[in-house]
Order: sequence, then structure tokens, then C-alpha cells
Amino acid sequence: MPRRFTVLLAAVLTIAAAPPVAITDAQRTVLERISAQSLEGHLWFIASDLLEGRATPSRGLDIAAEYIAAQFRRAGLEPAGDNGYFQMGAAKNVAGILRGSDPQLRDTCVVLSAHYDHLGVRGDQIYNGANDDGSGTVSVIEIASVLAEMNPRPKRSIVFVTFYGEELGERGSQYFVRHPVCPSTVADLNLEQVGRTDSTEGPRAGSATLTGFDFTDIAPVIEEAGEATGIRIYNDPKWAFRPPHWR
Ligand SMILES: [Zn+2]
Repeated sequence: MPRRFTVLLAAVLTIAAAPPVAITDAQRTVLERISAQSLEGHLWFIASDLLEGRATPSRGLDIAAEYIAAQFRRAGLEPAGDNGYFQMGAAKNVAGILRGSDPQLRDTCVVLSAHYDHLGVRGDQIYNGANDDGSGTVSVIEIASVLAEMNPRPKRSIVFVTFYGEELGERGSQYFVRHPVCPSTVADLNLEQVGRTDSTEGPRAGSATLTGFDFTDIAPVIEEAGEATGIRIYNDPKWAFRPPHWR
């Protein structure tokens, strides 16, 4: 199992379980169901030339949306859009929900998100966007698939959503924030570029960081999940502050 995904899963389980937290043997069994082969299979389609770089808007983006919705349907997620799995703003967000098992906590949600659009075609080159953010998109799909098989399910409900229009100014995510599908969201783990382990500062295999590390109380939860799963969580000074493009 790809090690970098274990920390994401552990963090989702941690937040969705409500503390106190420890990864149980049953949960670890679920985590081990994440398949590198399955992730790769999804990514080969999402980043294929057929989808022409998933520009917003484009036919390739629409095909990607249908594919993601089909995977949510396969996992048994409840549609969480205003038109089935689609949240129809100026384009489509794709959203599904896994209802929690606790009668009180199920009305609160953890959101797991990524953007599924990319840059499209420029000149004669297709920008396939396998890393940015096909990798995050297929992670949302795969994590939904394994968490839906948990018995019992996590206590809190989990919203799985992929956004359109990120490359046009975060349109999909901003629409989602203004039109939440869950009345009480306790956290959103947004996955961005989890497909590469290289960096200008050197290899980053077996490690992960958070944008805005010092601006969220999720950081200690991620660190705890990292300790439980053997992933090094680091505070990257390049992303430790509020990025200048944030509004
Ligand atoms: Zn991105």
C-alpha cells in the first residue's frame, strides 16, 4: 500500500471517529485495502489524452465528472449534489456522502476533497495533470471505496467531493463553501498533488506536509496519524504561512 495514503486515511478515521483515537486492528485492515494498482488504474483514465487535460469547461472535464460519479455510485455513496452526484454551479462539483454510524455525530461531517480539473490543451500539448490534481482525485475515489466497506462505519459522516474550476480561481471549492452539503462540517482535508515524491529541496518519499500548518488545529491530528502510520509530517516553511493567493 502506498505509505503516503495511510496518513490521509488515518487522519480521516481519526477525525471521523471523534476522539479518543487509536487505529484499531479492524481499521488497519481497512487501510491495507488501499491498492496501488487500483489508484494507478483510476489515474491512467483521469489523466489520459482522451480527457484532453480536463480544462474548465470542456468535454474532457465532463467525462471525468461522469467517471468520478460512477466510482462514487459503485462505492455506495449517497448522492450529495443537487442533481444526483453533481453540484451544478457554473460547472460540476461531484459529491457523495457516507453516512456516519453514530446517531448524534452523523449530522456532523468530515470533508475529503480534491480538484479534478487541470489546464487543458495549450498549443499542441495536452497538460494531463496526473499529479495536479489527478492524484488527489483518485485518492478521494479510492479512500471512499475502502471507507464505505467499514463495519461499523465511522461515527461522523464523510463527504467526498471533487471540485471543478480550481485552475480558474478555485471556482468549484468556493461554490462548495457557499453551498455546503452538510449542515455542520468539522474539517476538510483537501488533497493536492500527492502523486510525486520529488521536490526542488530533495526527495520527499514517506512524508507529507500541510499548507498553512500553523493556521489549523488539524496539524496535530495529522502528526498523530503520521506517528501511527510511520509517515513523517513536516512543517514546510514554504507553505507554513498563509499563501499570498488566498483570499
Ligand atoms: Zn492543484
